[in-house]
Amino acid sequence: MAKLHFYYGGMNSGKSTTLLQSARNYEEQDMHVLAFKPRIDTREGSEAFIRSRIGLSMPALLFTAHDNLEHMVEQYVKDNQRISAVFVDEAQFLTPTQVMQLCELVDFRGVPVLAYGLRTDFQGQLFPGSAILLAQAEMLVEIKGICRCGKKSTHVVRLDDNGQPEFSGEQIVVGGNDRYLAVCRRCHAAALRQYVLRLRTKIEVETHGSENTPAQADGPQ
Ligand SMILES: [Zn+2]
Repeated sequence: MAKLHFYYGGMNSGKSTTLLQSARNYEEQDMHVLAFKPRIDTREGSEAFIRSRIGLSMPALLFTAHDNLEHMVEQYVKDNQRISAVFVDEAQFLTPTQVMQLCELVDFRGVPVLAYGLRTDFQGQLFPGSAILLAQAEMLVEIKGICRCGKKSTHVVRLDDNGQPEFSGEQIVVGGNDRYLAVCRRCHAAALRQYVLRLRTKIEVETHGSENTPAQADGPQ
């Protein structure tokens, strides 16, 4: 029976590598697969490839929030050949409607769908796409990464242009290792405290001048 799989993890936990290895397993059995990735990731220009940090890659169809993935799969099958599975990279950027289109593919066309993505954003909130994947997928698989402190990384910290943690702004800012850190919940909370203190200090300085700045950056509350 076909299933909807959601492989979720933090930044740099090897999600794309796992996707590419799994797709290769299909192809080694002479089965054809179709891969999608969101157009939001413009780091590699107009060429659509899913790449891993260890050198694997495969071509992918780009999609935007307005595309109907079920229709795209139907069109692809009509123009090309039968497919045995659908893969989705950066699946946190799927819209809830698109996740339901993938469910249709699984339930009524018998095509397994394997989606790989982040569970939470830089504020520790579920991405809308990940929330519905967590709700709908019958196979949930955590891809584990490690925080700098040695604990399991479950959260993401976003860095500003000066390398400082930031907790405001758009949910989606494209970037790589220079912009995002995979961390545990505790280190995420510590980064948030640091951020709040930095904001407070900034406001104090703007209001009273530079004498009233708090001395400790990460002391007991
Ligand atoms: Zn940590």
